[in-house]
Amino acid sequence: MENEPPISTAVLSSTNEPSPSQCPACHVMIRPSDYFCFNCGKEIQEKPRVTSLLTQIVLYIGCLLLPPLGIIWGVRYLRYKGRQSKIIGIIAIVLTIISLVVSIVIAKNFFDNLSKAVNEQYSKQLGF
Ligand SMILES: [Zn+2]
Repeated sequence: MENEPPISTAVLSSTNEPSPSQCPACHVMIRPSDYFCFNCGKEIQEKPRVTSLLTQIVLYIGCLLLPPLGIIWGVRYLRYKGRQSKIIGIIAIVLTIISLVVSIVIAKNFFDNLSKAVNEQYSKQLGF
């Protein structure tokens, strides 16, 4: 059983699923879901970031207040491993887009009203 052909690392790295069930350092059998080898402590896979609720709220508020930055933050979270990070990234990007659309609409309304007011002022003055 020791002459098992080695699993191609190219195949392993191309799949998202953590398939190595053997520690690359000490070759002890490990669970694919482990983040660290229980025997030697080697990192098996990147631990998904756990983001606290407070951090998420700050992030979402940041996305709403600073729309262009929110896209960068969202993409950064999308790159992190773990389901939670991906969801946070998607929410951040969606919030950023909503915020952008809302601010464009508000700005458009503001300038429409402003130019209307200016035009009224002008026509009043011209009327005299
Ligand atoms: Zn190990």
